Amino acid sequence: MDSSYPQDLFCNRTGVLATMHRKEQAIAPILEQHLGVQVIVPEGFNTDEFGTFTRDIERSGDQRNAARLKAERAMALTGLTLAIASEGSFGPHPAMPFVACDQEIVLLSDRTHHLEIVGQAISTETNYSQKSIKSLESAFTFAQQVGFPTHGLVAMSEAQPTRSSQIIKGIMEEAQLTEAVDWLLKKFGQAHLETDMRAMYNPMRMKVIAQAAEDLVHKINQRCPQCGCPGFAAAERKVGLPCALCGSPTNSTLALVHRCIKCDFSNVTYFPNGQEFADPTYCFRCNP
Ligand SMILES: [Zn+2]
Ligand SMILES: [Zn+2]
Repeated sequence: MDSSYPQDLFCNRTGVLATMHRKEQAIAPILEQHLGVQVIVPEGFNTDEFGTFTRDIERSGDQRNAARLKAERAMALTGLTLAIASEGSFGPHPAMPFVACDQEIVLLSDRTHHLEIVGQAISTETNYSQKSIKSLESAFTFAQQVGFPTHGLVAMSEAQPTRSSQIIKGIMEEAQLTEAVDWLLKKFGQAHLETDMRAMYNPMRMKVIAQAAEDLVHKINQRCPQCGCPGFAAAERKVGLPCALCGSPTNSTLALVHRCIKCDFSNVTYFPNGQEFADPTYCFRCNP
């Protein structure tokens, strides 16, 4: 094994977490415990310029790109060579279009070793929701459905906001909600309510961020058999596990391809779930 990737790659190093939404509560304990990283949070770090959930500022590229930009900014601010950033995305589940899901990534960027490793988690445990309302009563009905006041709310003047829209974020109390909705109804005749998806206002999301941090640690601990580089994770899933009844290929996983992020080494693991045939329930031919 190459000695440029010692086992304790991150131990006793200081890593900067690019957040202003208290994500350190979910991420720091996991990285400190499993990697020995000392996590710090920069003061006054504004991540909103990289995009907001309320859509008044658009996200800079895709999820991974946005996280990378935040990590780079945090390293530039602090002069550190290790940074962590996270990014969430909400919408229909990729496999179940009628179910809302929360997709979280936690990205680690190490300038000393030129590494970028990304942990991820996907969960249908989310209260992600929005509704346009015309009365205070329907505002409170919506609030109750989405777990307010344990989870925060955002009230705004329109469903497609711009930088100049009226947006009231971080509503955590009934009096605040009444005041915001009353004001919007008087001024615009309607209000648009959404769950506040910023981590500190959304305990459900905090949990998924923690799962993504666990996945990051898991990937870091997977080393390339050839060069020892961390992050030797499944990069590709091959479908086509044969049906147990007729042998036709199904959409179930046949093999996983693990690929090194540094050298050209890869390996293919067939039947990663320990099954050589798929249940005919998942067969297009037997069970259309
Ligand atoms: Zn390698
Ligand atoms: Zn079949």
